[in-house]
Amino acid sequence: MSNPEVLKPVRQGTRLESIARLKCPRCRKGDLFITKNPYHLKQGLDMHEKCPVCHQDFKIEPGFYIGALWASFPIVILFMAILSVILLVGFKLSLTPFFVIISIVLFLLQPLIIRWGRSIWINIFVRYDARFPIR
Ligand SMILES: [Zn+2]
Repeated sequence: MSNPEVLKPVRQGTRLESIARLKCPRCRKGDLFITKNPYHLKQGLDMHEKCPVCHQDFKIEPGFYIGALWASFPIVILFMAILSVILLVGFKLSLTPFFVIISIVLFLLQPLIIRWGRSIWINIFVRYDARFPIR
C-alpha cells in the first residue's frame, strides 16, 4: 500500500538555481564538481565522471566542455557591464586604471566563470527529471 503523496515527485529548485549552485541538471542534487572550492589548485575544475546522486554522465562526449567557452561569454559580459558602471560611473575612474582593475578582477574570477560556463553548457543538453531526487 503506497501513499501517492510520498511517490509524487518533488520539484527540486529551478534551472537557474541548478546552474548557479553547480548542480547536476537532471536531479539538481548532485554536485558537478569534485570540490566546492573553485580556487583549489589541483581539483578546482575537476568534475565528477557521473552524478553522485542520479549517475547522469557528466562527460557526455570527448571535448564536450569546449562549447562551454561560448556559455561563459555572457557571464563575462555581465561582470564587465556591472564593473564598468561601478568603476566608470560610481568611482569616475579614467580608462587606464579601469582596464587594469577589470583585467585583474576578470583574471581572479576565471575559475568561477569557467565553472558557471560548464554548468550552463550541460544544462542546455540535459533535461531535469523530477523522478531522481526521491530515489
Ligand atoms: Zn544527478
